[in-house]
Amino acid sequence: MSIVLMYHDIVTANDKSSGFQNKNAFQYKVEESAFEEQVKALQGKDVVFTFDDGGESFLTKAAPLLEKYGFKGVFFISTKYIGTQGFLTEEQVKALAERGHVVGSHSHTHPEIFTKLSKEEIREEWRKSYDILKDILGEKDLPMSIPNGYASKTIMEEAIKCSFTDIYTSQPTTKIKLFQKHNVIGRYVVHENMTTEDVLRIVNSKGCRLKMALKWQMLNVVKGVLGESYDKLKAKILHH
Ligand SMILES: [Zn+2]
Repeated sequence: MSIVLMYHDIVTANDKSSGFQNKNAFQYKVEESAFEEQVKALQGKDVVFTFDDGGESFLTKAAPLLEKYGFKGVFFISTKYIGTQGFLTEEQVKALAERGHVVGSHSHTHPEIFTKLSKEEIREEWRKSYDILKDILGEKDLPMSIPNGYASKTIMEEAIKCSFTDIYTSQPTTKIKLFQKHNVIGRYVVHENMTTEDVLRIVNSKGCRLKMALKWQMLNVVKGVLGESYDKLKAKILHH
């Protein structure tokens, strides 16, 4: 049973320019030294490191540190931002795959609330993203992860129609579910304020994982009620 962790950018105190530049995004940027300590502490454990958004730190910071300790990562790219300020270029996306890491999609535009889009818009998100990644990487099985944790049956169905394989969510669970014969893989989020002990606890303690799962379920209820004001509240709750 693997524990799948969800990271975003790996940054330094002076330079957080990789990836999205907004308050919500900054809470998920983990400092390089903290990240190294976490990876080192998890050496030899059955852990999968995944990364969302497509910031340039995937190649400049995350990949080298994973490699140093014998891991490969799973990197999800929001394809619209490839080659823009703070994000990977096409060559860098390719380099990640060539170094043996898995590259997948994190939608095309990273919609704020994916579930608000029409079925056609959802399909466009996956179709464009798939085509761009296929152009860069060649014929490959491409997994995908859903932005902002807004999973739905339609979002998964449309991704599968666009030939994506494994589906990664933000639901903290170790149970791999099946959706139309595709794996639906849950993940445990790591944010900027977590210590190495916090991360080790996720991996080693079933009780800790259960607590995260309950918190997530509670947040999902709140999300349904609050809609757009949810992200602000989430920032507060996560940091307690
Ligand atoms: Zn994201």
